Amino acid sequence: MKKLIFLIIFLSACGGSEVAEEPTTTTTTIKETTTTSSSTTSTIKETTTKYLVQNPILDEESIAPLFPFAERYSSFECPDAPLPKKELFLVNLSSIPDENLIQCYNYALSKTMPTGIETLLIIYPVGDYVGELQNNDTRYRGAGFEPVLNENEVSTIYEGVLEFFGPECNVEQQAYEIARYAEIGGGQQVQTILCPQLSYKRTVIITIDPEREKIPIELQFVFFHEIFHALQIYLPYRAADCLLSDSPEDSLVLVEGSANYFSWVTVATLQNIPKEQLMGEWLTFLRHLIAVGDSTTELKDPAIAEKAAIGLYLLVQRGDLDEELLLNATIFSTCNGDYFSSEMMTIARQYWYDAEVVNGKVLFSDQALSK
Ligand SMILES: [Zn+2]
Repeated sequence: MKKLIFLIIFLSACGGSEVAEEPTTTTTTIKETTTTSSSTTSTIKETTTKYLVQNPILDEESIAPLFPFAERYSSFECPDAPLPKKELFLVNLSSIPDENLIQCYNYALSKTMPTGIETLLIIYPVGDYVGELQNNDTRYRGAGFEPVLNENEVSTIYEGVLEFFGPECNVEQQAYEIARYAEIGGGQQVQTILCPQLSYKRTVIITIDPEREKIPIELQFVFFHEIFHALQIYLPYRAADCLLSDSPEDSLVLVEGSANYFSWVTVATLQNIPKEQLMGEWLTFLRHLIAVGDSTTELKDPAIAEKAAIGLYLLVQRGDLDEELLLNATIFSTCNGDYFSSEMMTIARQYWYDAEVVNGKVLFSDQALSK
């Protein structure tokens, strides 16, 4: 059971922590649809189209499939890249060497279109999982862990946020809360825009608990997922006039699904594993989660990012979506819904699981491919 709890935490791709309330309009955070208290997210939820779920004929399997890739050897490394990149500002309190983080950030940059984005990456360890956080006086909500940071490390986080944003933005309260949340053992994996007038400055926060530390490949998934969010120029949450498709409710699905698609393909490439095989392992795993009632076929949490990524894979297989434009983040360089239609997204929602895994590969049904 404990293992399953961790898996579910893993599967809330950005949802290790949420900003529970938005006291001002100064914070834009990638949120999962499980959040109910944010007006931003509820806007997306309220407009979610209801659709008929096909009967997926999912059988409960007696043996749970492995968390994809969990037992493969890996380390948090990327190929050499020029060092250092000025676009990355690090507050690294983890045991991963700075150089590895910088190289992996540069690797992500090398795979995506050029942007003027600058990223503050805060990465810190937490202790064992404890459940709900006690004494949480911040607006962040997420899984609670034993706190392990000392006073100096907490101050480093606070000062790092202030230094990154400089005097142009008053982020003192956010800096305090991020540091305070770290101090009490708050877990997170999040990408956020703390200062709207400097929206090219992105903040990524990732925590490493002892379970995650054992699985560097999983940490790399999370890393590339969040870094991809930072490289998405337009994140259409608040701006009603900024849509990635002609249907507003698709935006979260696209933002999350694409981040996962990028992280899967990137990690598969780094590990020299065919991406088709990775897609197959994830589909098997997701079908199991659905069969045992830990998720549903709807493109919502838990596991919205993973399910949506398979949906995007279907659109690529159908020829509806150019995979290159997805992977290099070009589709997020515009706000006018050029690349997606609500018809495409309806197909993704209805047929993402209408597939079999044969010889390790995802084979979508004829109906899913031709409808
Ligand atoms: Zn995400």
